[in-house]
Amino acid sequence: MSALFEIPRLRTLARHAAPHVLEGTVVPLVLFLLMLRFIGVWGAAGLVLMILVHEMGHVVEIQRQGMRATAPIFIPFLGAAIFQREHPTTAVKQAQIGIAGPIAGTIGATVAFVLFTATQNPVFLLAATIGFFLNLINMLPVWQLDGAWVLAPVSPWFQVAGLVAIGVLAVVFHFVSVLLVIIAVLGIQSARAAFRNANNPYYTSVPANARLALFAAWLALVLYLGVMTLQSESLFISLAR
Ligand SMILES: [Zn+2]
Repeated sequence: MSALFEIPRLRTLARHAAPHVLEGTVVPLVLFLLMLRFIGVWGAAGLVLMILVHEMGHVVEIQRQGMRATAPIFIPFLGAAIFQREHPTTAVKQAQIGIAGPIAGTIGATVAFVLFTATQNPVFLLAATIGFFLNLINMLPVWQLDGAWVLAPVSPWFQVAGLVAIGVLAVVFHFVSVLLVIIAVLGIQSARAAFRNANNPYYTSVPANARLALFAAWLALVLYLGVMTLQSESLFISLAR
């Protein structure tokens, strides 16, 4: 019987730094400290659980496609990463791996939200808020974030839109995270590569209905996660008063 996971060697990690090098979280340091401040260790445990659920979505889809994935490796204050050994044969399969994490994470956050409405326990509400927000951020179509994998077969222009979105977040909402800035810088390279590879059969062979389905799934997740982030955040703020 083969092991459920493969524990990667350092050399493998270095060579397979992409895809999915940085997974699950983009701004967790602030969130992590907020969790500790408001709810303590239980809140922090909720955050770790939300990341784990997201990562396991990727792992399950990678294994469903018959490939091997590493166990999620937690990088303190950055998030967690999983590594896939092989590359899928089509851009659609890679997109499915990309969206499996946010789908699992969204279900996890929704379960936490439902548990809050049933119990009124603020631990569940904060876990839900952070779960919705983490998965929303990871839908940005920038660099190696999940949104970039999902929308790669649709159009390279989404990478440009993702970079613009980070700029708007920084200017309008003053939402500046050092990690987001690093991701934007790396994302410029990724966007250029996306335009260079736009005529590669790996992308051009994707049928129009698959492109449409990927875009629709991405949009539905972003809208749901956006509404639920605002909803659970405003509940949390009114609770804190
Ligand atoms: Zn992910």
